[in-house]
Amino acid sequence: MTVRTGLFKLSMNYRHHYHAGNYADVFKHVLLLQLVRAMQRKDKGMLYLDTHAGRGGYDLSVTSLLPDGRSREPEFPAGIGRLWAAAPLPPALADYVDLVRRFNDRHGATGSELKFYPGSPWIAKLLLRPQDRMALCELRPDDAEALDFEFARESRVTVQAIDGYTGLKAMLPPLEKRALVLIDPPFESKAEFVGIVRGIGDALRRMPSAVLAVWYPITERARADEFHYAVRTFATPALVAELMIAGESSAVRMKGCGLLVLNPPWKIEAEIREVLPELAERLMVEAGGAARCWWLVPEQ
Ligand code: SAM
Repeated sequence: MTVRTGLFKLSMNYRHHYHAGNYADVFKHVLLLQLVRAMQRKDKGMLYLDTHAGRGGYDLSVTSLLPDGRSREPEFPAGIGRLWAAAPLPPALADYVDLVRRFNDRHGATGSELKFYPGSPWIAKLLLRPQDRMALCELRPDDAEALDFEFARESRVTVQAIDGYTGLKAMLPPLEKRALVLIDPPFESKAEFVGIVRGIGDALRRMPSAVLAVWYPITERARADEFHYAVRTFATPALVAELMIAGESSAVRMKGCGLLVLNPPWKIEAEIREVLPELAERLMVEAGGAARCWWLVPEQ
């Protein structure tokens, strides 16, 4: 593992650990799974780059424990918890739950218990083919160490404790000439959208054909709108999927989340459109929840 420190000052209070398996993870990982499978319709290998990878996997029995010994409300019951034992599930959700089951099995969960949750690196790793490769960036030293440990025995995976936007510049374009990049920052700072837009610009300059998937929270509609406005300037095909678990005027803080996909792979739009209503129906917490998908910049 390469560790670079002192590049810049960052407040790093965010721990994905507390949010593992929540509704936002389910939304993001279901669509990530669809994206990986869509990329794999071609035989040629690809690089999967995760710029903000987290720990890789999470033990759900400790995700509600705070460092001072108190506990908080676990988030996964309103996410993966709503799908885990549900049957029947539509194919895309069954595919995702099956992957989460495989992760539980390989980490030693017994019976039908939901004990562990795979982060985006494991979602991708469980799908990786021999011709594919993965590069993972995580800046938080303890999470980077855990991530390195998770993948220590896995071939074709590199873990680096570096800033994800630096990783983006360093790793694109890859030798494979095909790349799927997940940009999934913690949004601790109001400037995160600015960093993402800069990162997208850097990535597209290096590799105009890169498939870039960017997750973002929806707390205020105006901020998502500003982000979309900035993304239009790249004049690159861009598809947006959003899931709202509550209405725009709800008191729920994170009312929804979105995934922006630049250079979306062939056929992915139809697949996303099919799964979104299923996610909304199962994950919404208040009336007014909904899901939609639209082209921010249409394909030519
Ligand atoms: N992608 C993960 C998943 O789906 O399982 C979750 C990632 S979490 C939302 C964001 C992660 O980014 C956190 O683990 C945080 O420590 C890390 N992080 C924060 N700033 C970073 C940066 N500049 N570069 C790389 N990682 C960063």
